Amino acid sequence: MPASILPFSSPSSPTTKTTSSNSISNPKQPHPSSLSLLQKCTSLRELKQIHATILKTHFQSDISILTKLINFCSLNPTSTMDYAQNLFDKIPQPDIVLFNIMARGYARTHTPIQAVVLFIHMLNLGISPDDYTFPSLLKACANSKALEQGKQVHCLAIKLKFHHNIYVQPTLINMYAECGDVRAARRIFNQMGRPCIVSYNAMIAGYARSSLPNEALALFRELQAFDIKPTDVTMLCVLSSCALLGALELGKWIHEYIKKHGLDVYVKVNTALIDMYAKCGSLEDAIRVFEKMRSRDTQAWSAMIIAYAIHGHGNKAISLFEEMKITGIRPDEITFLGLLYACSHTGLVNEGRRYFYSMRDQYGIVPGIKHYGCIVDLLGRAGLLDEAYEFIQSLPIKPTPILWRTLLSACGVHGNVELGKRVIKHIFELEDSHGGDYVILSNMCAADGRWNDVNSIRKLMKDRGVAKVPGCSSIEVDNVVHEFFSGDGTHIQSVELHRMLDELVKQLKLVGYVPDTSLVFHADMTEEAKEASLRYHSEKLAIAFGLINTPPGMAIRVVKNLRVCGDCHSAAKLISMIFDRQIILRDLHRFHHFKDGSCSCGDYW
Ligand code: ZN
Ligand code: ZN
Repeated sequence: MPASILPFSSPSSPTTKTTSSNSISNPKQPHPSSLSLLQKCTSLRELKQIHATILKTHFQSDISILTKLINFCSLNPTSTMDYAQNLFDKIPQPDIVLFNIMARGYARTHTPIQAVVLFIHMLNLGISPDDYTFPSLLKACANSKALEQGKQVHCLAIKLKFHHNIYVQPTLINMYAECGDVRAARRIFNQMGRPCIVSYNAMIAGYARSSLPNEALALFRELQAFDIKPTDVTMLCVLSSCALLGALELGKWIHEYIKKHGLDVYVKVNTALIDMYAKCGSLEDAIRVFEKMRSRDTQAWSAMIIAYAIHGHGNKAISLFEEMKITGIRPDEITFLGLLYACSHTGLVNEGRRYFYSMRDQYGIVPGIKHYGCIVDLLGRAGLLDEAYEFIQSLPIKPTPILWRTLLSACGVHGNVELGKRVIKHIFELEDSHGGDYVILSNMCAADGRWNDVNSIRKLMKDRGVAKVPGCSSIEVDNVVHEFFSGDGTHIQSVELHRMLDELVKQLKLVGYVPDTSLVFHADMTEEAKEASLRYHSEKLAIAFGLINTPPGMAIRVVKNLRVCGDCHSAAKLISMIFDRQIILRDLHRFHHFKDGSCSCGDYW
């Protein structure tokens, strides 16, 4: 059998064995034209036609033909595994090669665990796995987040001495990382004598996905120290780690590195660069990368639309979407997410509603929970709280706590205590409340002077043992990312910082700053104590650190884990004016560009 006929050519695929050990010898050889047709076949429809021709010419019992057909199904994204399973069931004594092909096919479907089911069947038939069996099985476990099954496969690999195999090790790392056990992944990585680039990629991707960007970047540096050539996959993970950290200088350095190694030819890498620049606060650089791209796919357009959206340029996001439509590139659910986000953060209520309905009507895209969230956010921000409430209740799916929480914070912004109480009841019913919910409700009651309610909420928090998520802000200075927590006195410069903030607040007060003590949660604090607690908020500490440690005129870039509070927002506006500094603050939801005393969000966030 000529091996070149098989579409096995994927270089990353370890399953390149093509001989079937128990081929039934057939007196007639299949007509060569059927085989060459199979080679050119691109869809399941065509495959079925070829299969029909083969059946007509009585070659159905030829195992090698069936193997080729099954192999086609396992590799072709447009075909399903049902057809492959049907063919497979017709083979009286399938061998390990066929099992491997089937397992690989299932691993990439949305029912990957079928690969494991098939594997058990294989063991029952007394067929032994080989070194191509485990990578597919582990991939299947990874894709279905089945840690327990993954561990069992790992155990068997150890028992049969396949665990040191060069194809098995990276897939083991990937399986543990995908299933959320990044420490187990690292243990395997550490056991490897000299990890190959595939293992490095699996480990770096695992860290990036588990929101451990510093670990991912440390491993990238190690890789360079060992002179191992990174691939486009490495760069995607490294860029997403930079984006998570908001580390622009590092991101720029990585961009140079990408250019030097010729990795900027990949559309995906450029898309990751757009995402990184946007999330690190440099919209200009994101635009530059986008404009230089020679070809753009849906993901690239979406990344740029999202970039405009998170920087508050809703109208630009919309016009880019219209431009995308003209080029004939089809939007997907992510594109719409960016678009709806843009509308909600710019207050474009009607446009948002229109795009939301066009998703299904014009493009046949079923909205997901995140799209619903955008609409709730859109309506909530615009103060259409009742409409948002009705929208949630009319959904075809069970509302998640996040949806209710989005409405709850809108109730907080618009001071609608009554609706807020109704909304929080829904969150409690779903038994997924966290500290932030109580804080929003408590702040609403405090702003309304309902101190009894505030006290009972605090008691409830204590009884249920809910903790408030601490605010954390970070700033990158000279390639080092410094983190600050609210009220933090642990940083090496904290005495200097606190003194600077005391001084700063005095100056701010001269230009009209009034600390918004209504935002402070504790009712029984004195006014001075409340002011002091506001003064050392994490974002103020990070901004002060930036003022001390960066040259005059340089933009200060801060990343915060929660939504920026109203007090820090007004303080940042004034700081940008007094010190003539641009402050770019990324909070949980968006970017705020503070300049000359005002913010790009127009106080709409
Ligand atoms: Zn604050
Ligand atoms: Zn703002």
